[in-house]
Amino acid sequence: MMDAATITTWMNEIAGAVRAERDYLIQLDAAIGDGDHGINMTRGFDAVVRALAQEEDGTPGKLLTLAGKTLVSSVGGASGPLWGSALRRGGRALGDAPTFDDGKLVEALQAALAAVVDLGAAVLGDKTMVDAMDPAVATLRREVDAGTVLPVALRRAAEAAEVGMRATIPLQARKGRASYLGERSIGHQDPGATSTALIVRALERTVAGSQ
Ligand code: ADP
Ligand code: MG
Repeated sequence: MMDAATITTWMNEIAGAVRAERDYLIQLDAAIGDGDHGINMTRGFDAVVRALAQEEDGTPGKLLTLAGKTLVSSVGGASGPLWGSALRRGGRALGDAPTFDDGKLVEALQAALAAVVDLGAAVLGDKTMVDAMDPAVATLRREVDAGTVLPVALRRAAEAAEVGMRATIPLQARKGRASYLGERSIGHQDPGATSTALIVRALERTVAGSQ
């Protein structure tokens, strides 16, 4: 079973990961966007960590929802509203329970992906964060349904996110700022898909560390 500490630890792990990769994310976004992705993600998840530190008695659903609201209000770029709605919708899917199991986690991540798609209207192959998130969620669902233990299921989900991330390189962007470049977006890895892979890896570490 996972609980509120799982959410707090996951958010802390994300904040650390995007901070460690801040310059890399900036560099990726500088090539096909405006170079702020590393700044947006670091600022956003630092704000999330601060917000959650004051809410330690919340349910997991409440904490994830708060994380989403905090991202929406602290990040100006596309990634703020996208990850913000994702975490809010994921939080709502977790409901009011004090704990959640593997199946509920899958449900929450599925809801998070649906929120990104509802808001951003990107489909697989548009060279966005969806290219990492969709295969990660699909893999996690398949593995959990097959009875794979969660740490292993999450490792495979993280690997799927990274495969999707690397597969954005030859694609032409069809959504977001990078789409303005047309064919010139080809040959570069999408920054949002890259931070998404970091976020899934952060979840894998969170769950592995609590077993
Ligand atoms: P901005 O593009 O406003 O500067 P960021 O640099 O923080 O915001 O985020 C850029 C990332 O957001 C892209 O690399 C892409 O993965 C993601 N993104 C942009 N538009 C969309 C969309 N419509 N749907 C899904 N993801 C998107
Ligand atoms: Mg940007």
